[in-house]
Amino acid sequence: MSRAVLERDVNESGKVPFHVSLPTAAMWDHEPKCQALMREAMVWCQQVTGHDPKHSCMFGDILEMLPGSLAEYSTYESKLAMTKSWSLKRSCKCMSHGAFCSPFKPSCIDVSGLPCPDFSRAGLQRGRHGPTIPVYMTHGRWAKESRTPLLLVECTPDLDIDMLQDCHPGYSWHQMYSEPGDFGFSATARKRTWVIGSNDNRNICRADPYELLDEIKIAMKDVHVRVRDYLVASEAEVHMEALRVANLKRMDNFRPGIDPMSLLLNLREVQTMSELNQKYHSRTGFPAKTDRDLAYFLGDSATYCSWSAASGKLPTYRLTQGRFWLPAVQRWLTSKERLCSMGYPVVKEMSLGMGQVPLVGAVDPEKAAERLGNAMHFTTSGIFQCIALSCFGPQ
Ligand SMILES: [Zn+2]
Repeated sequence: MSRAVLERDVNESGKVPFHVSLPTAAMWDHEPKCQALMREAMVWCQQVTGHDPKHSCMFGDILEMLPGSLAEYSTYESKLAMTKSWSLKRSCKCMSHGAFCSPFKPSCIDVSGLPCPDFSRAGLQRGRHGPTIPVYMTHGRWAKESRTPLLLVECTPDLDIDMLQDCHPGYSWHQMYSEPGDFGFSATARKRTWVIGSNDNRNICRADPYELLDEIKIAMKDVHVRVRDYLVASEAEVHMEALRVANLKRMDNFRPGIDPMSLLLNLREVQTMSELNQKYHSRTGFPAKTDRDLAYFLGDSATYCSWSAASGKLPTYRLTQGRFWLPAVQRWLTSKERLCSMGYPVVKEMSLGMGQVPLVGAVDPEKAAERLGNAMHFTTSGIFQCIALSCFGPQ
């Protein structure tokens, strides 16, 4: 989606002497829910760029490309050697076309959020010996066979870059780090590494990606937001989220707008909230409700102090469930507001800022929460695609 905005902006800017056209050739996701969201995203992109989504293939698990199972190989080395010796299947089940399509489409850039649980500090940190590494191996094999000129990989900063190189022979890697605050979203914590892989046989480096990143950071250094800026949900939307939870809890008598939303929290959440209120008060001397930029992540116990008090940032979103409580307004951050903090154009001000793109549907809280899942930060993703495509070109 961010690439669609990028493509349109570059074409409208007149700054390049050619027309940029980067339609999505194929997508992969093993989660059926995510596949449905990607289909919606493609329709959104069509409204921005005009590219017909009918031409994009949608595949499931990338491991389906392997001709066998890696389960019987126990070590990293044996799995890697096996993947490199195998030829990938020439066709996979495509959900877009209801047929078996070739996953080897000509394209100039591949953007992948490869799995991070094996590296993430919140995960088991099994690194290259972890269960998700075959995805990297298969991705590397696919990149080699499809001769994709540019790869862009987003992952947690603890990514094992040597493993990435092992799995992708023939590519030179350029690793950068970023967080949403580099591009104005200073109240969102989401440190990530973005790694550009340039195909040694097809590309040359035309400009220094690190310098370009620094220039963009400098250009945006005066743009800042606070947690309160993310509170964009209307009263009706807040009530709708409250009612949905009340229904799930069978609290039929709950009156949104009259009864406090804290009634909808579970006992553990209430306990965390009250302990954090006390901690905040003893540290600052002020009641928590006076801080309009204060948010607590109620998914952790109060011992961890997962709050915005120290950094001014919303604690990093995770796949695990958990509400972000806002003491000043006595409610939780809605799904729409979480999407807003991730750069998605959910309100007309954000849509206008992106040059009048269609709004991303975020009124339905369940759908918004699904969309968020483990999403990349919208603006950051667009900027790194811009850096990759600007700094590398055909030989
Ligand atoms: Zn297809």
